Amino acid sequence: VDPPAADYLQGLNPEQREAVLATEGPVLVLAGAGTGKTRVLTTRLAHILATGKARPWELLAVTFTNKAAREMRERISHMIGPAAEGLRWLGTFHSVAAQILRRHAELVGLKSNYTILDDDDQERLIKQILEAENIDAKRWTPKALAGLIDHWKNRGWRPDQLPPAEAQAFANGRGQALYRLYQERLRVLNACDFGDLLLHNITIFTSQPDVLADYHARFRYLLVDEYQDTNVAQYLWLRLLAQKSQNLCCVGDDDQSIYGWRGAEVDNILRFERDFPGAKVVRLERNYRSTSHILAAASGLIAANKSRLGKTLWTEAEGGEKVIVRGVWDGEAESRLIADEIERAKRAGRRYRDIAILVRASFQMRAFEERFVLLQIPYTVVGGPRFFERAEIRDAHAYLRLIQSEDDDLAFERIVNTPKRGIGDTTVQKLLQVARLNGVSATRAARQIVLTDELAARTRTSLANFLRDLDRWRAEAQHVAHPRLMEAVLEESGYTDALRLDKSPTAQTRLENLKELVQSMGNFDTLQAYLEHVSLVMDLDRGPAADAVQIMTLHSAKGLEFPLVFLPGWEEGVFPSQRSMDEKGEKGLEEERRLAYVGITRAREEARISFAANRQVYGRWTSQLPSRFVDELPLANVEASSETGYYGGGPGMQQHGSRWDESPSFGAGYSSPGWRRAQASNYRGSHPGRQQVIEGDGRLVVTGSEAKSDYSRGDRVFHLKFGYGTVKGIEGNKLTVAFDKAGEKKVIDSFVEKQS
Ligand code: ATP
Ligand code: MG
Repeated sequence: VDPPAADYLQGLNPEQREAVLATEGPVLVLAGAGTGKTRVLTTRLAHILATGKARPWELLAVTFTNKAAREMRERISHMIGPAAEGLRWLGTFHSVAAQILRRHAELVGLKSNYTILDDDDQERLIKQILEAENIDAKRWTPKALAGLIDHWKNRGWRPDQLPPAEAQAFANGRGQALYRLYQERLRVLNACDFGDLLLHNITIFTSQPDVLADYHARFRYLLVDEYQDTNVAQYLWLRLLAQKSQNLCCVGDDDQSIYGWRGAEVDNILRFERDFPGAKVVRLERNYRSTSHILAAASGLIAANKSRLGKTLWTEAEGGEKVIVRGVWDGEAESRLIADEIERAKRAGRRYRDIAILVRASFQMRAFEERFVLLQIPYTVVGGPRFFERAEIRDAHAYLRLIQSEDDDLAFERIVNTPKRGIGDTTVQKLLQVARLNGVSATRAARQIVLTDELAARTRTSLANFLRDLDRWRAEAQHVAHPRLMEAVLEESGYTDALRLDKSPTAQTRLENLKELVQSMGNFDTLQAYLEHVSLVMDLDRGPAADAVQIMTLHSAKGLEFPLVFLPGWEEGVFPSQRSMDEKGEKGLEEERRLAYVGITRAREEARISFAANRQVYGRWTSQLPSRFVDELPLANVEASSETGYYGGGPGMQQHGSRWDESPSFGAGYSSPGWRRAQASNYRGSHPGRQQVIEGDGRLVVTGSEAKSDYSRGDRVFHLKFGYGTVKGIEGNKLTVAFDKAGEKKVIDSFVEKQS
């Protein structure tokens, strides 16, 4: 007998319910955007708790961002009440792995107060190693080695586990040795990088069966969102933890895999079925998020990708606005247009927070930020170059880190002469050298050196004062609340004074940022908790519930949804990004296309794409071509608008003018170059095997790339735009159809449905 349907199960469709109720054994939910995967995962968690199958701390749930984890926690507590508070192990891969590592750090040679390095620190450390090894850092850059080491870690390889071909990489075959040196230095510094969090976990689990057994007993159910973006190390970690119970539920969408450059492996989807035999695979096909044009536009676009599993999606949300595509003069005009429309939407009753601007690259953000400041439109920048990455914030953190762990040489190096206290580069290099030679931290080396005559008297005094300050702050840290400690450090170190004297225009902002920092620290119980948060946090939180337009990159929009979404900068080279195409060719292009799919599918009611004819990229003006993705959108679901008048005038205009004139078969609306090319690409037939059909009950259905088309002369067909007609001729995937009302047209077979 079915259990009595609890409240939280109400409204789920049969497949969703199946995925929620199948708590025992491996489950893989593979489904397109907006089909309720995250909702299934959340409900499943609530269900396990509500039925007493596990207590909150016996559940391991990983999401992609801290924000997603927070939202999940909120939704669960909405469903089942305060029990959700005990979900200790709900977080990102990194945050959960960091928690586990804290408890067993000594097993991998660290202390439990280890620091987590950010990219900046990581590169600085690598630079030191390259210098010490006499490797030409111009030819073999720290950044490149950092990237390589990350790549290895994402694949789950420790230095001794590198395959021979990889070990030969970098600086004439010295990659492996440098990787080893880097790990040794990290250990001395009592630090690790992001990749280490998982890798150390894996080392502990595989070398200490009793520790692993402990976690097997603890984690009775494991749940993973955005599974398509896991990398090998994350997969290995999950597999180890789920080995015993097998109660692992992963949800994902291969079409939304957008972190290939971070080592994410869509193969993990295939691996899952192999490693967890008998896994239940659930497919969800109904999209609850978007109206039909938005869904059809996104489905049409992604159908151009060759490597995909293919899937069916449909929605009951009929009609709605078509996806709007606009060409504008330049980036300035684009931000003006979008800001105007936001104001109009606001007047029409939309809230700012229901509106998102999703950009491919963060450089695109500035124009919007400036415009919004001018018009006083409230906005938030989510993710991207963040508050925590600002120099003054990093400096403040470096003080805290050094107070917390004396071994943190990178923090030491960053602030020993910030603000300037007469301890120059040469002195710092000397200190680091002594540290290296004696295998001690820089602080300890400094303590030794101030007792000698190695340094000039003035330098020695400065350094001694600095060390004394550090000792005093460290003592204060024991009894002073950490926000007060931070304030004291900033004052007593002379940091804030230096900024007050600074006449540069940014000094004031920096002081404000530091104020903001001290204020935000109050949200954490301990200094350690705060520092851990800083290392892990992916997105900037400016307090809850401010009604503000959300600006973010497409990458950080994953999993989110908004009623109105703007997608600016759809230009060749910007999106798809030139770099991604140069570096990874066709694969890179397909990943960009998935990113476009993610972008469009964030929209619930309205999606508005734009491209500019001219753009200033890194200070240089260039003429832009509309993105090929514009061309790939199915015409039936798109409306090209030229109402804005941004096409007129200007010198660059002449260059494009000839291509923006009349456009015979699509009428005045389709007058941009993108639309000229759209027309061409339709006849080229870039969507083999895709079908878009209207079901009897009026639902729109778009089927994936598996479907094969076959038509013959005389077939009756239905086309979304032209209505009913009869096939007159077939040429590859192009059909000549005599439409009852619209007359004879050439159409792509995947745009029509065969009538039986
Ligand atoms: P993405 O691939 O973008 O992460 P998703 O598959 O995780 O999407 P959700 O975010 O879980 O999808 O759901 C999309 C929207 O549909 C949400 O607003 C959600 O509340 C709603 N939804 C999901 N399932 C149902 C349902 N059975 N009834 C009504 N609304 C639903
Ligand atoms: Mg989701």
